[in-house]
Amino acid sequence: MGPIRSPPFESLIGQQHIARTLRNAIEADRLAHAYIFSGLRGTGKTSAARILAKCLNCEKGPTPDPCNQCIPCTEITQGRSIDVLEMDAASRTGVGDIRELQEVVSYAPARDRFKVLIIDEVHMLSKSAFNALLKTLEEPPARVVFILATTEIQKVLPTILSRCQVFEFRRVTPRELSTHLRSICDSEGITISDEALDRIARAGEGSVRDSLSVLERILAFCGTEVEDEDVLQVLGAVRAEILIRMVGAIAERDAGEMLATLDAVMDEGRDLLHFWSELLAVFRDILITRVAGADTELLSRSPEEIRALDKITTALSGEDLNRVLGLLVELEPGLKSSSQPRFLFESALIRTASLAAVVPIERFLESLSGGGGDLSSPSGEQKKKKLTRSEPATAGFRAALLASIKKRSRPMITALIGHASGVELEGDQAIIRFPAGAESFKTQAEREETLTLLKGCASEAGGRPLVLRIELEKDKNGRDPGPRREAGNRRQLMETAGSDPAVKHLLREFGAQIVDIRPLDLEGSAEETP
Ligand SMILES: [Zn+2]
Repeated sequence: MGPIRSPPFESLIGQQHIARTLRNAIEADRLAHAYIFSGLRGTGKTSAARILAKCLNCEKGPTPDPCNQCIPCTEITQGRSIDVLEMDAASRTGVGDIRELQEVVSYAPARDRFKVLIIDEVHMLSKSAFNALLKTLEEPPARVVFILATTEIQKVLPTILSRCQVFEFRRVTPRELSTHLRSICDSEGITISDEALDRIARAGEGSVRDSLSVLERILAFCGTEVEDEDVLQVLGAVRAEILIRMVGAIAERDAGEMLATLDAVMDEGRDLLHFWSELLAVFRDILITRVAGADTELLSRSPEEIRALDKITTALSGEDLNRVLGLLVELEPGLKSSSQPRFLFESALIRTASLAAVVPIERFLESLSGGGGDLSSPSGEQKKKKLTRSEPATAGFRAALLASIKKRSRPMITALIGHASGVELEGDQAIIRFPAGAESFKTQAEREETLTLLKGCASEAGGRPLVLRIELEKDKNGRDPGPRREAGNRRQLMETAGSDPAVKHLLREFGAQIVDIRPLDLEGSAEETP
């Protein structure tokens, strides 16, 4: 089959805002002399520039729907139109090149309606070239349209920006990419699984162009019936089972199983770097799921696949996941340059196994107020239970709730929630818990206006209507102790605090020492020790 072609404007994946504006401008005959297309590579800037050129110069135009068949359209597609010139500023930064360009624009279009100059990576132009361009833009020749594309708009002079209409191309999500690939495959009668398309979208790393070229490579290899195994082979990719086995081994901190799995990857002759990037993508997706839920657009996997992955990693807290990700990211330069990438990979895996489980700070605070028991030396099983007790829903919920409050610009309420010792999601209830004795926080939270806002935010964060409960932690005897009394002089306080097992544990874990004591009257009153 030939190159994959998509209809104009609609082919701007994820850039509907730009497509709509350009379409309206053409229909209303309100075209600018100069445009800047700004955005990451692969987001469709050059494609959009060519489409716009076709809209302007199509024999049936100017039209937002060029025919794609007339001579101007065909020549633009093939990059050999006499009136549509593309130049790459990265390779042509000299004054001479700009003089040439000025000369080009000084002539009327040779055949078509407009002369269109597409300058790619315009921020790379030298200062003198920029000035020459600016001069041209100040007195734009009739029937000339500039389209300047850049990945680094902050490097484009403000004087240039002010003379152009600027379009920001946004990052294309993996989900949008695979949906796009799906529509192409369906219209071309190609049989391929969703999983394979997700994989291709990931291999394209957010670039429409790159993922299309991966798809073309695969189709060239196996025709219109694409088996998952073919995709794996072309990408040098690993089977999902092996990936899941590795993720499971990391979650279990089972170094032996990790090494055996890596061995299997090598046995299959898979590319280690590709395996690494797939593994990284999995952990990234799991972490994002914890924060934003399995249905977010940000993920490159189906919600079912994500839920399965999330399930096998419940033993890892958000912080654990972050640290595994950190170790994997650190591995990249070594993997690319070392003559022994396998040894590096093995050593990084072993380090993930030796990472101690991180106990969330809320859990520590719970233990301080007597609820959490001894956290100092949990056995493997206990440790896992502790970590999974309110994970994963609750871990992400607190963050989502805070994000929702911040969005409403309520710093006082954000601060109030910062004092909560626990934020939990239980069925249809959101529970915000303050430390024992912190009556005033509870009262503050229960003010009608605050309560209404918190309830709205909680429901937004949980993605469904929730009942809100504000609670106080119980003290060690299961009572609410009320405001604490001043506990004597400073030395006495230091001794009391230092002998508390939970404090002892904190001191040991963080290598800390007690420098000052304030009675933890969480009402925030001025009851400080001199
Ligand atoms: Zn045409």
